[in-house]
Amino acid sequence: MKASQQTKRFEDILDILDKEYPGDFEGLDYTTPLELLVATMLSAQCTDARVNTVTPALFAKYKTVDDYIAVSQEELEQDIRPTGYYKAKAKNIKACCLMLKEKFGNELPQTREELVQLPGVGRKTANCVLMHCYNQQAITVDTHVTRLTNLLGFVSTTDAVAIEFQLMEIVPLQRWNDVNRLLITHGRKVCIARRPQCTVCTIQHLCPSRQPM
Ligand code: SF4
Repeated sequence: MKASQQTKRFEDILDILDKEYPGDFEGLDYTTPLELLVATMLSAQCTDARVNTVTPALFAKYKTVDDYIAVSQEELEQDIRPTGYYKAKAKNIKACCLMLKEKFGNELPQTREELVQLPGVGRKTANCVLMHCYNQQAITVDTHVTRLTNLLGFVSTTDAVAIEFQLMEIVPLQRWNDVNRLLITHGRKVCIARRPQCTVCTIQHLCPSRQPM
């Protein structure tokens, strides 16, 4: 299929999903860039819903970069334990906050190149911060985006960075932020891992992986 046809098919899918899920995206809860950064780090190998059960108490206790630096590693581990991989996550959050203080004046940087320098921050977390805090267009590739873009035949890899770059070629820049919101919602509600609901899927006519009725 030609590149222009792939773009048209992707945009048609986004248009249909946008009508189906107008503005209803359940993501991570946060009120500041630092809270989003921490919540996104906690969401690795964990659902947003579970992270959202932990962060109200966490964000009430830790309000600044200095709060995360001052606490002991062990205490922070216990505060984030339900999100899994809590030892590595606590270590990364503390190291990340130390770098924010020493190198970036306690502020989150606003470029991807600077964000990925922070310990525990990869392209997914950096893109998430750029999208939600700084209103920049970015494609964040999580498990749902990986699964759906493969099923829909736009990519043929599970490498998140490769998927991000391939989608950047297919999807017009002004629609990058829609990719996450719409594919993640569709992946949670209809194209569910291991049991996709193809019979009720509104984009089945555009999907090469639809299961026979
Ligand atoms: S048709 Fe089936 S496999 Fe394709 S996107 Fe819809 S639910 Fe997923």
